[in-house]
Formats: sequence, structure tokens, C-alpha cells
Amino acid sequence: SPRRVLTADDYFDGVRGQNVSMLARAFTLVESSSQRHIPIAEELLTRLMPFTGGGLRIGITGAPGAGKSTFIEALGLLLVAKGLRVAVLAVDPSSGVTGGSILGDKTRMAKLAAEDNAFIRPSPSAGTLGGVANKTREIMLVAEAAGYDVILVETVGVGQSETMVAEMTDCFLALMLPGAGDELQGIKRGLLELVDVIAVNKADGANRKPALLAAQQYHNALDSISGHASDAAPAILTCSALHQEGVDDVWDAITKRCESSKQSKKFEHRRRQQNLRWLWSIVEDRLRQTLHTHPGVQEICDDVESRVLVGEMPPAAGARQLFAALKLDHE
Ligand code: GDP
Repeated sequence: SPRRVLTADDYFDGVRGQNVSMLARAFTLVESSSQRHIPIAEELLTRLMPFTGGGLRIGITGAPGAGKSTFIEALGLLLVAKGLRVAVLAVDPSSGVTGGSILGDKTRMAKLAAEDNAFIRPSPSAGTLGGVANKTREIMLVAEAAGYDVILVETVGVGQSETMVAEMTDCFLALMLPGAGDELQGIKRGLLELVDVIAVNKADGANRKPALLAAQQYHNALDSISGHASDAAPAILTCSALHQEGVDDVWDAITKRCESSKQSKKFEHRRRQQNLRWLWSIVEDRLRQTLHTHPGVQEICDDVESRVLVGEMPPAAGARQLFAALKLDHE
């Protein structure tokens, strides 16, 4: 017999009941862009809302090869050993383009993936980076409602995706490589404004000294360029994800940050502001989608484009015509 279509109730019960296979199906539902799934996903999220917010949301960035998956696995195993439930999500800036994902791949963290109290979800592929980020936030909420205590959101060190991950997390960690000289040039002011904790990874063997040196240079660099109030300046540590050394110290630095920002109410404030910006990000994303798929717009689009192309029509006039063709229905 054909499988019964699941209702928002079914998903809700599955998520709240921590049913692993229903949880996976809820993630798939939330990531779906099918018109059939969207209203169910929205109802599910609305019902789950009161049960969200309990997770600690940690963003993790680093250049390819910095040791993100090694670190996340080591940290994840450490947290699971403490009795915490861990979700690993990814915002992969390339996933929308290539359809493939280089982050959040289970095979990169096989030991953690095998843990009952951990799951790893690859980056959604939702067209735009904004779309990917919005889906990831929703997955995060579902995971929290299912009782996950720590949400690790992984991304790679390329501009916009780092900003987006910092925008959805409570604390942002940057993994760096030893070899300070080159690396320091690569650390952009923008990143320094986002990060709460910097960990120079691979501080083992012959790399131990260069790693300590790099950490020292980050200290110096921060002193000279940052306008950070001293309590907001990033914590700087070294670790070896491979040998599982110092990973616990990085975790302590993260939790200390979160504790002090909870006390000063910054934590709550940051989350509220994030919700507001999330709202507008969804609106803007939908508006863009609507614009590009709208029948009225599509009808005149080629004509307007070709006239602008040959310089017969001023772009502003073309834009006005396209806007005029965009008749939005209000629900
Ligand atoms: P990612 O691309 O940032 O996810 O980096 P990976 O975790 O895949 O690590 C890239 C390479 O660096 C792998 O060969 C790892 O074994 C190695 N690696 C990761 N962490 C460490 C570390 O702490 N010390 C050493 N020596 N190698 C490491």
C-alpha cells in the first residue's frame, strides 16, 4: 500500500520523541523546496518553536586543510563523552553551485557519525547562499527541538559564508594553521570582527613551535588593529585536533564566552537581533525567487533585456517595466 502522507503532527511527534528516522525525514522536509512540503514544514517549525533555543550554537570556520573535520570529530566525541548530544551542520558556499558538498560529509567524521548521540548533516543545496543559510537555521531549530545540546555549524573561510554562519551562532571559532607569516596576511579584519575564539591547530611535532609563535602574532596583531573592548577580544589558543590535545581548552574558552555573554544579556540580545535579520533575509530571498519565476516578469523579460542590451532602453526604464509586471498576490 502507498505510504501515508505524513502530517505536521507526525513529524512533530517524531522530532519531540527523538525518533531518529523521523528526525531525518523532518530534516528532509524542512530542506525541501517543493510547494507540497513548504506549508507542512512551516506548520512543523511553528509548532516546534517553543521547544527551540536550548542548544549552544557554535560556528566553526577555517581554510580547507586547516583541520575542521578532524577538530569537529575530536570535539564532538569529547562532548558526547560528557553526555551531550551533538549536531554537526554545514553551510557550504559551493553546494548551491555544484550540487555537491565538501562539508558536513559523514565520511570525514566516521567515528562521530557512528555515535548515537551525534548526527552529521551535509550542507543543504538551496540555490543561493542565503537560501542555504536559511535552511541550515531551520535544521538547527529542529535539532534543538529534538534535544540536541550543541549545534556545530561548519563553513569554509570564504567571506560571505563566514558572515552568515556568525549570524546564526552564539560563538564563532576560527581554526588557523601554524606558519604565522602567511596566515597572518590571510586574516582579514572582517574575520577578526566575527570571531570569538581563534585556535591555531596542528600544534604538534615540528609544528608546535610555529603554532605558538602564530598564536603570539595573533595576539600582537589584535592589540594593534582591534578596537575591541578587552572583554570582546577573541581568545587565542593552540591545539592539536589530530592528537586531541587542547581541544578541551578550546571548548572551555567557548563555554566561558557564552557564559559571560549570557550574564551580560548580550547572548539573548544577539539571538533576537539574529531572528530579525533572519526574517528579512527570508523575505528578500523569497522576493528574489518570486521575481525570477513570476510569469508576468518572464513574459516581458527577454524583450526588456534585449532592448537594454543594445542600448535602446535605459536600464532604469527596463527595471520599472519589470517591477510593474511583478504583481504579487497577498495571502
Ligand atoms: P579540513 O579540510 O579543514 O576539514 O581539514 P581536515 O580535518 O580534513 O585535515 C586536513 C589534514 O590535516 C588531514 O590530513 C588531517 O589528518 C591533518 N590534521 C588535522 N588536524 C591536525 C593536527 O592537529 N595535527 C596534524 N599534524 N595534522 C592534522
